[in-house]
Amino acid sequence: MLFTDTHIQGLSGDMLPDKNGPSAMGGGGQGGLAEHPSVSLFREYLRLKTVHPEPDYGAALRFLERMAKELELPMKKVEVCPGRVVAIITWTGTNTALQSVLLNSHMDVVPVFQESWKYDAFAAVKDAEGNIYGRGTQDMKSVAIQYIEAVRKLKAEGKRFARTIHLMFVPDEEVGGHKGMEMFVKHPEFQALNIGFALDEGLANPGESFTVFYGERCPWWITVRCPGSPGHGSRFVENTAAEKLRKIINSFLDFREQEKHRLNTSECLTLGDVTTVNMTMVKGGVAYNVIPEKMDATFDIRIPPTVNLQEFEAQIQRWCKEAGEGITYEFAQKHTNQDLTSTEDSNPWWKIFSATCKAMNMNLQKEIFPAASDSRFIRAVGLPAIGFSPMNHTPILLHDHNEFLNEQVFLRGIQVYQELLPALASLPAQSSEV
Ligand SMILES: [Zn+2]
Repeated sequence: MLFTDTHIQGLSGDMLPDKNGPSAMGGGGQGGLAEHPSVSLFREYLRLKTVHPEPDYGAALRFLERMAKELELPMKKVEVCPGRVVAIITWTGTNTALQSVLLNSHMDVVPVFQESWKYDAFAAVKDAEGNIYGRGTQDMKSVAIQYIEAVRKLKAEGKRFARTIHLMFVPDEEVGGHKGMEMFVKHPEFQALNIGFALDEGLANPGESFTVFYGERCPWWITVRCPGSPGHGSRFVENTAAEKLRKIINSFLDFREQEKHRLNTSECLTLGDVTTVNMTMVKGGVAYNVIPEKMDATFDIRIPPTVNLQEFEAQIQRWCKEAGEGITYEFAQKHTNQDLTSTEDSNPWWKIFSATCKAMNMNLQKEIFPAASDSRFIRAVGLPAIGFSPMNHTPILLHDHNEFLNEQVFLRGIQVYQELLPALASLPAQSSEV
């Protein structure tokens, strides 16, 4: 080869192929000059700094407006609260009485520790293997562009489907979705979309399979407050806050050990099937020689849908009671919605989704999402939602250093949606719809 790796990286990084000639259909071979236009578009979207704490949503919305124009589809913008806009590009079906298909993606990405990255996390550098590095390559700017490019291809082929397809781009998923999807699902404009089925983000799978998520764990963020008798640091004061705190920490972390053991000793369990507990903050004390009158411990707990939440809270109450007098707790976050999307053939949306994947020889691995995504708000209003990011043969690097996606895996994902969208948008009218 004429170029060293560094030269190739430099080339592809510097060229910024925002505009590509029509010749670039060759699949974007590394080092070649003709990058696939969908890959160039993906890299352009990655360079927009929609990163917290101050995401440039303006840049993303301008980009999406351009996409809508290119697709010759209308785009609606709904400001759910000041500075927080949900954008919806709509491809209207031939029978608007039928429920629509929602393709959701969030525009924002989490911050980076740039010093730990191989490349600038917002330069979308592509290496000699075709790996594209950047924050959002997996979570989830790839999926947003795959939706757009699949629709572009289908439109170019002159396709038209019975059901309407909505491409939705939401803000603030990475900070809890409170000023994004959580507000929007209660908005009249959301109702007006008449959604029947939603696709949203999933996770990469390092193997040959594709992971799909049909439910999520409930996040509970709890602070346990331990009051106690104050006094001089030189004495055996009775009933101290620290003694209670120790018992609280033991109860929570013993349970953590049990759950960790359960996960590690069972082949069929994944992270989404067990309860995780982590102590994330400890507060208390004023001086070296003063026994404090209170100490707090904060835990991040994630509870799978198989756990009875009333019983789980009763257990927390028992732990508090056993640890001593006057202990209280409060929640900063306490999700209780345990709705699952059915993955039985009785759910026509799942049936067509899984059959279409099977026809493409894709093996689906069904799991509970271990963290939280905007799907929980969609399921909470009673709609079926599947978390799916078509990325196999890819290490799970969301929120991690050096997040990347290979361009061939990315391009294959567009083909996956090119099959899925016609199937979903052609699902015959269901008895509930007539
Ligand atoms: Zn995400």
